[in-house]
Amino acid sequence: MQLRRITLRIATGTIFHETNTFCTHPTTLDNYKHDTLAPRSARTGYLDAKDFFEEFTDTKSVAGGFIDASKNLGFELLPTIWAEATPGGTVSKEAFDYLLSALLEALRKCGNVDGVLLGLHGGGYSEVHNDLEGKVLQEIRAVVGENTPIASTLDLHANVSRLMVDVANALVGYDTYPHVDMYERGLEASEILVSTIKGRIKPTMAMEKPPLILPLQGQFTGRCPMSKLIETAHAVEKEKSVLNVTVSASFPLTDCIDTGIALIVTTDNDVDLARNKAKQLSDLAWSLRRDFLVTPTPIDRAVKEGMTGPGPVVLADIGDNPGAGGATDGTALLRALIQAGADRTVVAVIRDPEAVSKAIQTGVGNQVTMKIGGKTDKFHGEPLEVTGYVRVISDGLFRHRGPMATGMEMRMGKTVVLDVKGVEVILTELRMQPMDLQLYRSVGIEPSEKQVIAVKSSVHYRAAHTPIAKKIIEVNTPGITGPNLKRYMFQKVKRPIFPLDDM
Ligand SMILES: [Zn+2]
Repeated sequence: MQLRRITLRIATGTIFHETNTFCTHPTTLDNYKHDTLAPRSARTGYLDAKDFFEEFTDTKSVAGGFIDASKNLGFELLPTIWAEATPGGTVSKEAFDYLLSALLEALRKCGNVDGVLLGLHGGGYSEVHNDLEGKVLQEIRAVVGENTPIASTLDLHANVSRLMVDVANALVGYDTYPHVDMYERGLEASEILVSTIKGRIKPTMAMEKPPLILPLQGQFTGRCPMSKLIETAHAVEKEKSVLNVTVSASFPLTDCIDTGIALIVTTDNDVDLARNKAKQLSDLAWSLRRDFLVTPTPIDRAVKEGMTGPGPVVLADIGDNPGAGGATDGTALLRALIQAGADRTVVAVIRDPEAVSKAIQTGVGNQVTMKIGGKTDKFHGEPLEVTGYVRVISDGLFRHRGPMATGMEMRMGKTVVLDVKGVEVILTELRMQPMDLQLYRSVGIEPSEKQVIAVKSSVHYRAAHTPIAKKIIEVNTPGITGPNLKRYMFQKVKRPIFPLDDM
């Protein structure tokens, strides 16, 4: 008698990226090795199996969800590679080819697997393969064969392609922006995959894509219309035979044929139901299209409002969000704050390795005059000459304690706090989106005691900052992540599309 193997073997991995094609700098292998979002141990450009468990165990991340699901559901999780870079420009051919072949080689080494559980983004765009995730799924399918189920989580900012839906058995997108449910979606994708492998369900996906792209700020799930769309999706998810409903709000700054909102409904072997429900949600999204548009506040007015009344007032520098490919060295808001004589103010962050290095040479407790920011491209303002006092020099390491990616270690690179007459500028070596209050506390700043907190972020800052903010203002700053989509030179998106075209 042959012994039956009862523990399921499930491979996992990702090549993760959110690509802003309006960014002038490509995303290279170097970014996968050294970026903020590239784990400290990712000297090769990715985490291997050992590093994977060290990095993600006990964290509220997608991979943390996979790890806990493997314990709860009793399967063996086999990491291939886990590669991640900070959102930025088009992924170079060299980086993508290298990471894909590493992933496939590691997958082959896993031997026979019962399923594949991926943590893809969905907003990746590489030089040769514009549908980055479609290509990854297709190549994985070729290795594991038609009968091995593949499930993946997707970021809420996925630009989902037809190929992705055709190749994967299940796609489970985040339901929140700020993304505070990555761990839960990791658990959900694991459950769907295991039930599929065991033959209990047969996931059947349908996708609808109305001709609609949404500015990032309009995708905030804490207010209408996005909250309404997600609530409706959750109501549909409770219906009989519906396994998952994903509202993929899309990443609007990828100029790509697949860019746009996607409504994906997965049922248990009921294609008509999946199609009907996806169409119903698509119609709802379309009817709300004008409500997704946002009008940010002009810089001078925002600074004035920030300096009056009870603080902290959070000024969101939405034009230059590192988490959406921004240069992170935009100076427009900083300049206005200094000119207005703002006090008890913190600016998070300005990425400027040159200035960091100069401040370190100057030393803690000394004064330095130098030009900071505005050095990456022509979209983020001019370098700004400041005279400041070097308060803190740090290694830039801290761990998230707030609601987003809780427990994850973050890396800003060498970091300096420069006090410019009451405006404390956090200067970093790397691009880092402020998503957690530990960022400030790690460099000796208590954000709740500030009058003004300026953050380079579109929406993610809200998760940690809302509890301490007396007021939040979205500021109309220059850069490549702002909400006025008509300003961008789109060439590849499917036309007509709202709001680029009047529909
Ligand atoms: Zn996202």
